[in-house]
Amino acid sequence: MADDDASPARPYDPSVFEGPATREKKDIPDGLWMRCATCESMLFRKVVAENLEICPNCEHHFPVQARQRIEQLVDPGSFEELFANIAPTDPLAFKWMGQTYARRLTKEQAKTGNTEAVLTGLAYVKGRRVGLGVMDGEFLRGSMGSVVGEKITLLIEETTTHSLPLIIVCVSGGARMHESALSLMQMAKTSAALSRFDDAHGLYISVLTDPTSGGTTASFAMLADVILAEPGALIAFAGPRVIANTIKAELPKGFQRAEFLLAHGFVDSIVHRRDLRSEIARLIDYCAR
Ligand SMILES: [Zn+2]
Repeated sequence: MADDDASPARPYDPSVFEGPATREKKDIPDGLWMRCATCESMLFRKVVAENLEICPNCEHHFPVQARQRIEQLVDPGSFEELFANIAPTDPLAFKWMGQTYARRLTKEQAKTGNTEAVLTGLAYVKGRRVGLGVMDGEFLRGSMGSVVGEKITLLIEETTTHSLPLIIVCVSGGARMHESALSLMQMAKTSAALSRFDDAHGLYISVLTDPTSGGTTASFAMLADVILAEPGALIAFAGPRVIANTIKAELPKGFQRAEFLLAHGFVDSIVHRRDLRSEIARLIDYCAR
């Protein structure tokens, strides 16, 4: 018998182990798969995209980019974009984390292909002409800067002039800190425009998606005649972690989610994404009677 070949080093030879721990990981092409935040299933991204960005297992609603949302909502090719030429500036020469706001804006514009965090225009939903605003959560977390406020205000005014129903799909991290008080002023501006729209008896439907928070919630998102929300959407002013840390208390289960807000009267209806188009058309017809 050979002398003790079973040297202590041998068991550590990687070829000894064939089990999963040392098997080479298969390369998953970047971006082909995604994990559901709710049911934790690994999902083929293409399948999710074909399912309106909803998890096929548990119906979790993933975020939708503004252009994609418009395609989902309006009659094909009917979106006529307005006010796209209004671009943000950096009036305060704001700098944060070693980066100027102006530079950040350029990056966000390159990433999303949009000049700002909202797209506005006129469109048809199942043959009904509407004024439509769709926020883009990919652009600086859908924050409300001066241009977002201005575009929404102009949209409200355009919709008032043409006596059209107004639809705004919200997703927002709140007011944009890079613009300080200038962003906070948008709350008053959009609210005043909505007040004039209301005086003219216009119908305003807001759609709150995950997340809608801060100054957006505290202004135009919550001032609608009918407030719809997507399932599971976080709808808040301050986020749950901030509140829990401030009041040092455990918050109720599902606090600030769409279902909680529906139960407490802040939301009129929770609408599955696949039904949103039909529900908007139904509401327009119902309110026109
Ligand atoms: Zn899922």
